[in-house]
Amino acid sequence: MTEAERRAALDAIGAEVAACTRCRLHEARTKAVPGEGTAATEVIFVGEGPGFNEDRQGRPFVGQAGALLSELLGSVGWSREEVFITNVVKCRPPENRDPEPDEIAACGPFLTRQLVALDPALVVTLGRFSMARFNPGARIGQVHGTFRPSAPESGAPEALTYAMYHPAAALHQGSLKATLFQDMEGVPLALLEARKLRSVAPVPLGTAGLLGETAHAPAVSEAAEPFATPGPSNAAAESAGAFAESGPTDQLSLF
Ligand code: SF4
Repeated sequence: MTEAERRAALDAIGAEVAACTRCRLHEARTKAVPGEGTAATEVIFVGEGPGFNEDRQGRPFVGQAGALLSELLGSVGWSREEVFITNVVKCRPPENRDPEPDEIAACGPFLTRQLVALDPALVVTLGRFSMARFNPGARIGQVHGTFRPSAPESGAPEALTYAMYHPAAALHQGSLKATLFQDMEGVPLALLEARKLRSVAPVPLGTAGLLGETAHAPAVSEAAEPFATPGPSNAAAESAGAFAESGPTDQLSLF
């Protein structure tokens, strides 16, 4: 699929979402929030559902949690414009309650189609509802900051999934903010591993300020272990041979 075809597919999905009445969440929404970002990216961030500000603007992650997500992206040299950002459900659950299973199921085909259109190498899940879509049965407290292959039924069977807490969680529990930034450091490393597994020709590295020289790239395992951890301080990951060298101090370009 060309980039133009991906864009057209994403726009068509967005138009359907805007008019969707498949579940009860359409009743109280101001605007549906299909998601936004470039069709050329290798990385998709998937949150839970729109909040108050997102519902008003029809855009994902535009409130305080969105500002934190932008900060997190910036911490690894990325921007919102270089990735695609969406949610498990596209309409705001009333009072920001958790989405119900039938609502997640009703909205699921839209996310599946977005994944098919984008064919991402890496899916970053933000929060437990998103994580459950790609790695059913996992516990966020145990797997945040780690990656594993996506569940085949997730819609992105060839992607790696990297689990993170939802940025909104750090607004309620300040101690999670440092955890989020620490976990974010592993996202570019997970992308490197995802590229390797997909045999994607590496995007040119070594342009100014990016990963520098390939000699700086971390050593990666031959195959992604379930919940491999790209951080250098994780003994389990080191024993599994995943990312045995120090974490990156340089940055990895998405383009
Ligand atoms: S949450 Fe999804 S399925 Fe439900 S009305 Fe909105 S777009 Fe449709």
